[in-house]
Amino acid sequence: MTQLLQAGDPSPSLILNPEGTCPILLACEHAGQGIPKALGDLGLSREQLDMHIGWDIGAAALTRLLSERLNATAILQYYSRLVIDCNRPPEAPDSVPEVSDKVTIPANVDADNKQARVDEIFTPYQGQVSRLLDSGRYKAALSIHSFTPVMQGVPRPWDIGFLFGSHDDTSRRLAAFLEKAYPWMTIGFNEPYQVSGLSDWFVPRHGEARGLPHALIEVRNDHISDKDGQEKWADILAASFRHFLEEVPA
Ligand SMILES: [Zn+2]
Repeated sequence: MTQLLQAGDPSPSLILNPEGTCPILLACEHAGQGIPKALGDLGLSREQLDMHIGWDIGAAALTRLLSERLNATAILQYYSRLVIDCNRPPEAPDSVPEVSDKVTIPANVDADNKQARVDEIFTPYQGQVSRLLDSGRYKAALSIHSFTPVMQGVPRPWDIGFLFGSHDDTSRRLAAFLEKAYPWMTIGFNEPYQVSGLSDWFVPRHGEARGLPHALIEVRNDHISDKDGQEKWADILAASFRHFLEEVPA
């Protein structure tokens, strides 16, 4: 099979603050907008690639700030979710989406390089997350995402959503702190998405499978699309993560 990534294409995994002492691992699967050189622009305009379909707007910046504030290690995934979605099983129909929020992705229609995207981006990235989590340094893993305020014409009222499957304890603890500290906040549970083993990777594979406390956190992207918003939400989430660590001793 032909190699997809070429010289000059970065590694899918970017690890920030690898010596961080915080016992929370931060992950950001939809951090990046990178596209392997061989795939050009996927047949999309710059404007389309900058939309929420191309990446989680603000999520990488928020994760970086949280990594700094908490002295936490963070792992960010470099390539656009339109190249391959690193929070979905490779078998999921939208792992390499042909259409995302009504936009057709020309380079993904009948693409013959989907397996290479799995082998060279998805699998190595998940391997790095596993390597970090298997080190035993962490008592929780939190995945940072953002969602678009309006999806297919339907407005979404939540400021933040916590996504979980069988383990809701971490999400409930984090949310309980936020409800008390920021009464204005509209918090969703398994909103705007629901987690399942067929459609998700981080929660079932990295959290549930290890029995490791975890949550996937979705911030509405209009809150974190600029620097001021990112700083504000980093303060908010850092406070809730610190409180969580105090509540749940090592
Ligand atoms: Zn996401």
